[in-house]
Amino acid sequence: MEIINRRQRMSSVARKIRREQDRTIGLVPTMGALHEGHLSLVREARRMCDIVVVSVFVNPAQFGPSEDFDKYPRDLTKDTALLTDYNVDYIFAPPVEEIYAKGFASYVTVEGLSDQLEGASRPGHFRGVATVVTILLNTIRPDFAFFGQKDAQQALIIRRLVKDLAFDTEIVILPTVREDSGLAISSRNLYLTSEEQTAAGVIHEALKRAKAAYKEGERSGGRLEILVRSTIELEPRARVDYVNVIDADTLEHLDRLDDRPILIAIAVYVGKTRLIDNTILNKAKKKDASV
Ligand code: AMP
Repeated sequence: MEIINRRQRMSSVARKIRREQDRTIGLVPTMGALHEGHLSLVREARRMCDIVVVSVFVNPAQFGPSEDFDKYPRDLTKDTALLTDYNVDYIFAPPVEEIYAKGFASYVTVEGLSDQLEGASRPGHFRGVATVVTILLNTIRPDFAFFGQKDAQQALIIRRLVKDLAFDTEIVILPTVREDSGLAISSRNLYLTSEEQTAAGVIHEALKRAKAAYKEGERSGGRLEILVRSTIELEPRARVDYVNVIDADTLEHLDRLDDRPILIAIAVYVGKTRLIDNTILNKAKKKDASV
Protein backbone atom coordinates (compact mmCIF):
# COMPACT_ATOMS: atom_id res chain seq x y z
CA MET A 1 0.00 0.00 0.00
CA GLU A 2 1.18 3.48 -0.81
CA ILE A 3 0.11 6.73 0.84
CA ILE A 4 -0.08 9.52 -1.71
CA ASN A 5 -0.17 13.16 -0.68
CA ARG A 6 0.20 14.90 -4.02
CA ARG A 7 -2.57 15.32 -6.54
CA GLN A 8 -0.22 14.99 -9.47
CA ARG A 9 1.23 11.72 -8.19
CA MET A 10 -2.31 10.39 -7.57
CA SER A 11 -3.43 11.19 -11.07
CA SER A 12 -0.32 9.74 -12.72
CA VAL A 13 -0.59 6.50 -10.69
CA ALA A 14 -4.27 6.19 -11.65
CA ARG A 15 -3.54 6.94 -15.31
CA LYS A 16 -0.90 4.23 -15.38
CA ILE A 17 -3.27 1.67 -13.85
CA ARG A 18 -5.94 2.49 -16.41
CA ARG A 19 -3.70 2.64 -19.46
CA GLU A 20 -0.99 0.12 -18.93
CA GLN A 21 -2.65 -2.43 -16.73
CA ASP A 22 -6.26 -2.05 -17.88
CA ARG A 23 -7.53 -2.63 -14.35
CA THR A 24 -10.65 -1.24 -12.69
CA ILE A 25 -10.26 1.37 -9.98
CA GLY A 26 -12.63 1.81 -7.04
CA LEU A 27 -12.60 5.01 -4.99
CA VAL A 28 -13.91 5.34 -1.44
CA PRO A 29 -13.96 9.02 -0.44
CA THR A 30 -13.80 9.61 3.33
CA MET A 31 -12.84 12.22 5.87
CA GLY A 32 -10.91 9.63 7.88
CA ALA A 33 -11.49 8.59 11.51
CA LEU A 34 -12.52 5.35 9.88
CA HIS A 35 -15.17 3.12 11.35
CA GLU A 36 -17.29 0.11 10.35
CA GLY A 37 -19.45 2.30 8.08
CA HIS A 38 -16.44 3.32 6.00
CA LEU A 39 -15.04 -0.19 6.10
CA SER A 40 -18.23 -1.64 4.63
CA LEU A 41 -17.60 0.58 1.60
CA VAL A 42 -13.95 -0.49 1.44
CA ARG A 43 -14.96 -4.16 1.61
CA GLU A 44 -17.35 -3.76 -1.31
CA ALA A 45 -14.78 -1.77 -3.31
CA ARG A 46 -12.24 -4.55 -2.69
CA ARG A 47 -14.78 -7.13 -3.89
CA MET A 48 -15.72 -5.23 -7.05
CA CYS A 49 -12.49 -3.59 -8.21
CA ASP A 50 -8.90 -4.53 -9.05
CA ILE A 51 -7.40 -1.46 -7.41
CA VAL A 52 -8.86 0.29 -4.37
CA VAL A 53 -8.10 3.90 -3.50
CA VAL A 54 -9.38 5.38 -0.23
CA SER A 55 -9.19 9.14 0.04
CA VAL A 56 -8.81 10.66 3.49
CA PHE A 57 -9.42 14.38 3.40
CA VAL A 58 -11.22 16.58 5.92
CA ASN A 59 -12.68 18.98 3.40
CA PRO A 60 -12.77 22.54 4.77
CA ALA A 61 -15.15 23.66 2.01
CA GLN A 62 -17.99 21.56 3.39
CA PHE A 63 -17.81 22.94 6.93
CA GLY A 64 -19.56 26.15 7.97
CA PRO A 65 -17.57 28.82 9.88
CA SER A 66 -19.00 27.77 13.25
CA GLU A 67 -18.80 24.02 12.59
CA ASP A 68 -16.35 21.40 13.81
CA PHE A 69 -13.62 21.52 11.11
CA ASP A 70 -10.86 22.17 13.66
CA LYS A 71 -11.91 19.54 16.14
CA TYR A 72 -12.99 16.91 13.58
CA PRO A 73 -11.20 13.65 14.58
CA ARG A 74 -8.04 12.94 12.56
CA ASP A 75 -5.84 9.86 12.96
CA LEU A 76 -4.10 8.90 9.74
CA THR A 77 -1.84 6.39 11.53
CA LYS A 78 -4.80 4.42 12.81
CA ASP A 79 -6.64 4.75 9.48
CA THR A 80 -3.57 3.47 7.62
CA ALA A 81 -3.33 0.42 9.88
CA LEU A 82 -7.00 -0.40 9.27
CA LEU A 83 -6.75 0.05 5.52
CA THR A 84 -3.64 -2.15 5.40
CA ASP A 85 -5.73 -4.93 6.93
CA TYR A 86 -8.29 -4.43 4.19
CA ASN A 87 -5.71 -4.73 1.43
CA VAL A 88 -6.27 -1.25 0.11
CA ASP A 89 -3.82 -0.30 -2.65
CA TYR A 90 -3.58 3.48 -2.20
CA ILE A 91 -4.53 6.03 0.41
CA PHE A 92 -4.89 9.49 -1.06
CA ALA A 93 -4.39 11.90 1.85
CA PRO A 94 -3.63 15.35 0.43
CA PRO A 95 -2.97 18.40 2.60
CA VAL A 96 -5.56 21.18 2.20
CA GLU A 97 -3.30 23.30 -0.05
CA GLU A 98 -2.99 20.42 -2.47
CA ILE A 99 -6.74 20.49 -3.13
CA TYR A 100 -7.40 24.19 -2.63
CA ALA A 101 -4.27 25.85 -3.95
CA LYS A 102 -3.73 29.61 -3.70
CA GLY A 103 -6.18 31.35 -6.00
CA PHE A 104 -8.68 28.45 -6.04
CA ALA A 105 -11.95 29.86 -7.36
CA SER A 106 -14.01 27.13 -9.03
CA TYR A 107 -16.88 25.54 -7.13
CA VAL A 108 -19.53 23.06 -8.21
CA THR A 109 -23.16 23.53 -7.21
CA VAL A 110 -25.85 20.92 -7.74
CA GLU A 111 -28.96 23.07 -7.81
CA GLY A 112 -32.30 22.09 -6.30
CA LEU A 113 -31.26 18.99 -4.39
CA SER A 114 -28.73 20.97 -2.31
CA ASP A 115 -31.08 23.52 -0.78
CA GLN A 116 -33.22 21.59 1.69
CA LEU A 117 -32.49 19.34 4.71
CA GLU A 118 -28.71 19.39 5.33
CA GLY A 119 -28.35 22.17 2.78
CA ALA A 120 -30.80 24.40 4.67
CA SER A 121 -29.18 23.70 8.06
CA ARG A 122 -25.62 23.87 6.69
CA PRO A 123 -25.47 26.52 3.93
CA GLY A 124 -22.69 25.83 1.44
CA HIS A 125 -22.17 22.28 2.70
CA PHE A 126 -23.09 20.55 -0.54
CA ARG A 127 -21.18 23.03 -2.66
CA GLY A 128 -18.12 21.91 -0.70
CA VAL A 129 -19.02 18.24 -1.10
CA ALA A 130 -19.74 18.51 -4.85
CA THR A 131 -16.53 20.45 -5.40
CA VAL A 132 -14.25 18.02 -3.62
CA VAL A 133 -15.95 14.98 -5.18
CA THR A 134 -15.47 16.55 -8.61
CA ILE A 135 -11.77 17.08 -7.89
CA LEU A 136 -11.38 13.50 -6.63
CA LEU A 137 -13.21 12.01 -9.62
CA ASN A 138 -11.15 14.10 -12.04
CA THR A 139 -7.89 13.23 -10.33
CA ILE A 140 -8.47 9.49 -10.05
CA ARG A 141 -11.08 8.77 -12.76
CA PRO A 142 -12.30 5.67 -10.94
CA ASP A 143 -14.60 3.12 -12.57
CA PHE A 144 -16.63 2.97 -9.34
CA ALA A 145 -17.01 5.30 -6.38
CA PHE A 146 -18.62 4.11 -3.13
CA PHE A 147 -20.82 6.16 -0.81
CA GLY A 148 -23.09 5.43 2.17
CA GLN A 149 -26.86 5.71 2.35
CA LYS A 150 -26.30 7.20 5.82
CA ASP A 151 -25.80 10.48 3.93
CA ALA A 152 -28.89 10.02 1.76
CA GLN A 153 -29.02 13.56 0.37
CA GLN A 154 -25.30 13.49 -0.43
CA ALA A 155 -25.80 10.21 -2.33
CA LEU A 156 -28.56 11.75 -4.47
CA ILE A 157 -26.50 14.87 -5.13
CA ILE A 158 -23.48 12.85 -6.22
CA ARG A 159 -25.54 10.72 -8.56
CA ARG A 160 -26.95 13.92 -10.10
CA LEU A 161 -23.49 15.50 -10.35
CA VAL A 162 -21.99 12.47 -12.09
CA LYS A 163 -24.87 12.31 -14.55
CA ASP A 164 -24.96 16.03 -15.29
CA LEU A 165 -21.21 16.50 -15.70
CA ALA A 166 -20.75 13.22 -17.60
CA PHE A 167 -18.24 11.55 -15.29
CA ASP A 168 -17.36 8.05 -16.38
CA THR A 169 -17.76 6.65 -12.87
CA GLU A 170 -20.49 4.39 -11.56
CA ILE A 171 -21.76 5.45 -8.15
CA VAL A 172 -22.44 2.64 -5.69
CA ILE A 173 -24.53 3.41 -2.59
CA LEU A 174 -24.33 1.00 0.33
CA PRO A 175 -26.55 0.52 3.39
CA THR A 176 -26.10 2.34 6.70
CA VAL A 177 -24.05 0.39 9.20
CA ARG A 178 -25.37 0.61 12.77
CA GLU A 179 -24.26 -0.10 16.33
CA ASP A 180 -26.14 -2.91 18.11
CA SER A 181 -28.24 -0.16 19.68
CA GLY A 182 -29.37 0.92 16.20
CA LEU A 183 -27.35 4.16 16.32
CA ALA A 184 -25.91 4.86 12.86
CA ILE A 185 -22.12 4.70 13.10
CA SER A 186 -20.50 8.09 12.52
CA SER A 187 -17.11 9.68 13.16
CA ARG A 188 -19.01 12.31 15.16
CA ASN A 189 -20.22 9.63 17.62
CA LEU A 190 -16.72 10.07 19.13
CA TYR A 191 -17.94 13.41 20.49
CA LEU A 192 -20.71 11.72 22.53
CA THR A 193 -20.38 10.94 26.23
CA SER A 194 -21.54 7.45 27.16
CA GLU A 195 -24.88 8.87 28.44
CA GLU A 196 -25.31 10.69 25.14
CA GLN A 197 -24.51 7.51 23.20
CA THR A 198 -27.36 5.79 24.99
CA ALA A 199 -29.67 8.77 24.47
CA ALA A 200 -28.85 8.84 20.75
CA GLY A 201 -30.51 5.43 20.43
CA VAL A 202 -33.80 7.35 20.33
CA ILE A 203 -33.05 8.43 16.74
CA HIS A 204 -33.26 4.93 15.34
CA GLU A 205 -36.14 4.15 17.66
CA ALA A 206 -38.10 7.07 16.16
CA LEU A 207 -37.38 5.90 12.61
CA LYS A 208 -38.49 2.38 13.50
CA ARG A 209 -41.75 3.71 14.95
CA ALA A 210 -42.43 5.70 11.79
CA LYS A 211 -41.75 2.62 9.69
CA ALA A 212 -44.14 0.56 11.79
CA ALA A 213 -46.84 3.24 11.58
CA TYR A 214 -46.50 3.34 7.78
CA LYS A 215 -46.76 -0.44 7.67
CA GLU A 216 -49.94 -0.25 9.72
CA GLY A 217 -51.46 2.10 7.16
CA GLU A 218 -50.48 5.65 8.18
CA ARG A 219 -50.35 7.66 4.94
CA SER A 220 -49.99 11.23 6.23
CA GLY A 221 -46.45 12.61 5.91
CA GLY A 222 -47.28 15.29 8.48
CA ARG A 223 -48.43 12.77 11.06
CA LEU A 224 -45.32 10.64 10.53
CA GLU A 225 -43.16 13.73 11.05
CA ILE A 226 -45.01 14.45 14.32
CA LEU A 227 -44.55 10.85 15.44
CA VAL A 228 -40.78 10.98 14.81
CA ARG A 229 -40.42 14.40 16.40
CA SER A 230 -42.42 13.53 19.51
CA THR A 231 -40.52 10.25 19.99
CA ILE A 232 -37.19 12.10 19.87
CA GLU A 233 -38.45 14.84 22.16
CA LEU A 234 -39.12 12.25 24.88
CA GLU A 235 -35.33 12.06 25.30
CA PRO A 236 -34.21 15.14 27.26
CA ARG A 237 -30.65 15.07 25.84
CA ALA A 238 -31.94 15.18 22.25
CA ARG A 239 -33.14 18.22 20.27
CA VAL A 240 -34.64 17.90 16.79
CA ASP A 241 -33.08 20.03 14.03
CA TYR A 242 -35.35 18.70 11.29
CA VAL A 243 -37.59 15.78 10.47
CA ASN A 244 -38.69 15.46 6.86
CA VAL A 245 -40.85 12.94 5.08
CA ILE A 246 -40.00 13.39 1.41
CA ASP A 247 -39.84 11.74 -1.98
CA ALA A 248 -36.66 9.61 -1.89
CA ASP A 249 -35.65 10.62 -5.43
CA THR A 250 -36.60 14.30 -5.67
CA LEU A 251 -36.60 15.26 -1.96
CA GLU A 252 -39.97 16.93 -2.54
CA HIS A 253 -42.18 17.23 0.50
CA LEU A 254 -44.96 14.65 0.60
CA ASP A 255 -48.19 15.13 2.46
CA ARG A 256 -50.06 12.14 1.17
CA LEU A 257 -47.85 9.05 1.08
CA ASP A 258 -48.29 6.48 -1.66
CA ASP A 259 -46.21 3.47 -2.59
CA ARG A 260 -43.27 5.34 -4.14
CA PRO A 261 -39.96 5.27 -2.21
CA ILE A 262 -40.21 7.70 0.69
CA LEU A 263 -37.27 9.06 2.64
CA ILE A 264 -37.59 9.99 6.29
CA ALA A 265 -34.54 12.16 6.96
CA ILE A 266 -33.71 13.54 10.37
CA ALA A 267 -31.06 15.64 12.07
CA VAL A 268 -30.86 15.73 15.84
CA TYR A 269 -28.60 17.41 18.35
CA VAL A 270 -27.60 15.09 21.17
CA GLY A 271 -25.91 17.38 23.64
CA LYS A 272 -23.81 19.58 21.35
CA THR A 273 -23.32 16.92 18.68
CA ARG A 274 -25.41 17.01 15.53
CA LEU A 275 -26.29 13.59 14.14
CA ILE A 276 -28.18 12.63 10.99
CA ASP A 277 -30.02 9.48 10.07
CA ASN A 278 -32.67 8.29 7.65
CA THR A 279 -34.78 5.40 6.54
CA ILE A 280 -36.55 4.55 3.32
CA LEU A 281 -40.11 3.30 3.11
CA ASN A 282 -40.96 1.12 0.10
CA LYS A 283 -37.29 0.52 -0.41
CA ALA A 284 -37.92 -2.56 -2.55
CA LYS A 285 -38.86 -0.05 -5.22
CA LYS A 286 -35.56 1.80 -4.85
CA LYS A 287 -32.57 -0.13 -6.10
CA ASP A 288 -29.92 0.47 -3.47
CA ALA A 289 -31.81 1.84 -0.52
CA SER A 290 -30.95 0.81 3.01
CA VAL A 291 -32.05 0.45 6.62
P1 AMP B 1 -17.37 10.67 5.98
O1 AMP B 1 -16.00 10.24 6.35
O2 AMP B 1 -18.28 10.88 7.14
O3 AMP B 1 -17.39 11.78 4.96
O4 AMP B 1 -18.01 9.42 5.23
C1 AMP B 1 -17.40 8.84 4.09
C2 AMP B 1 -18.37 7.89 3.46
O5 AMP B 1 -18.74 6.88 4.38
C3 AMP B 1 -19.67 8.57 3.00
O6 AMP B 1 -20.06 8.05 1.75
C4 AMP B 1 -20.64 8.19 4.07
O7 AMP B 1 -21.99 8.16 3.64
C5 AMP B 1 -20.15 6.80 4.42
N1 AMP B 1 -20.59 6.43 5.76
C6 AMP B 1 -20.39 7.12 6.91
N2 AMP B 1 -20.99 6.49 7.95
C7 AMP B 1 -21.57 5.38 7.43
C8 AMP B 1 -22.35 4.31 7.99
N3 AMP B 1 -22.64 4.25 9.29
N4 AMP B 1 -22.80 3.35 7.15
C9 AMP B 1 -22.49 3.38 5.83
N5 AMP B 1 -21.77 4.36 5.25
C10 AMP B 1 -21.32 5.34 6.04
